[in-house]
Amino acid sequence: MKKEKSCPVIIARQEHEISRKLMSPNALRTLYRLKDNGYVGYLVGGCVRDLLLGREPKDFDVVTNATPNEVKRMFRNCRLIGRRFRLAHIHFQDEIIEVATFRSQASNEPEPEPKEAHGAEHRQRHPRMVKDDDGMILRDNVYGTPEEDALRRDFTVNALAYNIADFSIIDYTGGLADLDAGIIRTIGDPDVRFQEDPVRMLRAVRFAAQLAFTIEENTRKALVAAADTIVRAAPPRLYDELLKLILSGEGAKCYDLLRQTGLFAALFPAFSSWLGAESEGYPHTRFGEMLSCVDSRIQQGHKVSPPLLLALLFGEYIDEKAERFRRQGAPWLQSVNAAVAEFMGETCPIVMIANRVGNALRDIISQQMRLKKIPGRRPESFIARHDFNDIIEFCRITRGDKKDVVKQLDWWAAQSQQQVPVPLPPDLTEESDAPQHKRKRRRRRRNPKAKSVTEVV
Ligand code: ATP
Ligand code: MG
Repeated sequence: MKKEKSCPVIIARQEHEISRKLMSPNALRTLYRLKDNGYVGYLVGGCVRDLLLGREPKDFDVVTNATPNEVKRMFRNCRLIGRRFRLAHIHFQDEIIEVATFRSQASNEPEPEPKEAHGAEHRQRHPRMVKDDDGMILRDNVYGTPEEDALRRDFTVNALAYNIADFSIIDYTGGLADLDAGIIRTIGDPDVRFQEDPVRMLRAVRFAAQLAFTIEENTRKALVAAADTIVRAAPPRLYDELLKLILSGEGAKCYDLLRQTGLFAALFPAFSSWLGAESEGYPHTRFGEMLSCVDSRIQQGHKVSPPLLLALLFGEYIDEKAERFRRQGAPWLQSVNAAVAEFMGETCPIVMIANRVGNALRDIISQQMRLKKIPGRRPESFIARHDFNDIIEFCRITRGDKKDVVKQLDWWAAQSQQQVPVPLPPDLTEESDAPQHKRKRRRRRRNPKAKSVTEVV
């Protein structure tokens, strides 16, 4: 990491395309208030990158030289959050603007003097960055200069700042050139930066896929070399980052990159070898198809819940596990429970799926059985389930190529939109017959080669 003081490239207002009209009015209000009180105020990170690329930013982050307490004194609608590193959240009606004090990372020297603009909080202790034996950052809560704040960021294209004082863009790391060239490059030595925080490898993949950028050669080499170390990141954080990545609207591209770099095999060793072991690449292709399907939903503006996403991606894998339990004599529902439990057991030590999400995943896979029984007993109670739409979606996506299934799903969808019962399609009436349903269930128990969980509809 560069430590010597360097001059930033400054792009004046008239030389760049970012207009304040494209910014969140609340972010602008926050920046002007900081400026009017004599502080520095920058927009930073993803929002500057996205504004320059003509994309709509997801959120607007502000950095300043005011300390959190100084920010709090300036805004009545401010709450301080975070124990380790205090951040100010400015609450507006429909938006929260995060304001952080400039931070430094490159600080293995003796504890620095606090760098507050107005000298307040001098007695506050500022623990320095702490790394573990393998170089992973455990703590990095040190205030810093604007330059240090830029240098601690992950990629050059994420380190650009927009200065409210003169509407210029400040570039300490060559981010503008990389943005023009479509390159994702770590700031500083990529080996060190991925060692400090392995999650940055997932972020590199996400930004490359999302922005259609290339990962710069040295960054890519370091990423491939460090791919196995991804398991050192905290499992809940890996789950969050993977969700962002798969729900970015470019999940299929992300998956390709994860596979090419070795990250996928490190994150999901058992699932990955299952995908690889099958002949003709069928599960692998199927997995890619599911991702493309999720991508098109996201691109059309639909939401995909985490349990539905997991059911779509891992449904067949879980199914095969359930089939194994069934062959050993377990009843159908128990087989699904055992299969989901086994899947969670092998996945969660690396990628932590919360139990609540695991239970919801199990419900989607097991409850699809009920769609077959139309009208069934108390259909309204099934329709009232919070995950009813996810169950319908899951079946439509995975089994929607079967005529019977489509009819059943349409019936349930119509039923859920109406108060009055919808008549059954004539050729499905038989299915709803209660005694016949019972007969079918008994037959399934006797037959160890019964259809798999996702094929029961
Ligand atoms: P998105 O469009 O997904 O919000 P983003 O770049 O804004 O992309 P955030 O997670 O919102 O990503 O983070 C905001 C900024 O914080 C980033 O642009 C980057 O400068 C910095 N940052 C985030 N995570 C890291 C990290 N792991 N290491 C270093 N800097 C980081
Ligand atoms: Mg962001």
